[in-house]
Amino acid sequence: EAAVVSGEDPPYKPEFDISRPTIARVYDAILGGKDNFAADRDGAASYMKFVPGSREVALDNRAGLEKGVAYMARKGIDQFLDVGAGLPTMRNTHQVAQEINPDATVVYVDNDPIVLAHGRALLATNKSTTIVTADLRDPEGILTHPDVLKAIDFTRPVGLMIVGLFMHFHDDERPGEWVQALLDACPSGSYLLMTDFADTGDPVQKEIEKAGLESLGNGWVRKPEKIEEHFCGLPLVPPGLDFVSRWFPEEPDKEVPAVEDLDPSLRIMMGAIGYKE
Ligand code: SAM
Repeated sequence: EAAVVSGEDPPYKPEFDISRPTIARVYDAILGGKDNFAADRDGAASYMKFVPGSREVALDNRAGLEKGVAYMARKGIDQFLDVGAGLPTMRNTHQVAQEINPDATVVYVDNDPIVLAHGRALLATNKSTTIVTADLRDPEGILTHPDVLKAIDFTRPVGLMIVGLFMHFHDDERPGEWVQALLDACPSGSYLLMTDFADTGDPVQKEIEKAGLESLGNGWVRKPEKIEEHFCGLPLVPPGLDFVSRWFPEEPDKEVPAVEDLDPSLRIMMGAIGYKE
């Protein structure tokens, strides 16, 4: 029987089915967070079974998020739309952005209501941060959400973020169309930061795909050219798309390790930033 935990105050009334894993809570469990339940920890264990370095994969992804946000903030971006934001964890987008630009506004969007519930604590201390329950599959719902419109001025450049999220959509769903709809709303001077699971033929990549399919029913890997397609034709900021531990948008000429010298856990997550001219 499904156990349900309900939030108490309207208008959100989030209902959590804790008998089934969710992406946000499994990711939290992999990162060592506390906002998860037994089914989520089973999901995390599935990841560990197939890829013992799954925590390093998640940390690698967070490092990519931090590098990307810092790059955009130093380029003057002061409003971020972070879609698929996840549960609050270490070095969240607003912390990285506001260290560089104290007035930066961040809107976190997630379709799992637990993110809103737990994010309230964060909101209490930060006036420039908003959390919205909305779905990437419904970009209009994001773009017309009153809290998004209150926080983001779409006549000024936006730092759009879709980090650690795209692997959860199969290409049959045509997820690039949702990205295009969001980008259409952002003016020139905006950026898109995205990370995704890569498929370059390395066996560890197929293992993480198996883990995702077993625990969540999604979590596919993509050929790098497919990942690039989801930037919808935006030119990529140097060094372009690469494994996150080789990717330094603020130092594109930095000497980086050869792919074959990377730990297998670092041969999964690729990242890039596109620039809307
Ligand atoms: N962006 C964070 C990061 O990279 O560390 C969190 C990544 S976590 C793996 C993916 C997040 O996307 C989860 O919190 C999940 O609830 C959320 N998510 C999944 N499907 C979504 C959708 N269709 N729309 C919005 N958020 C979604």
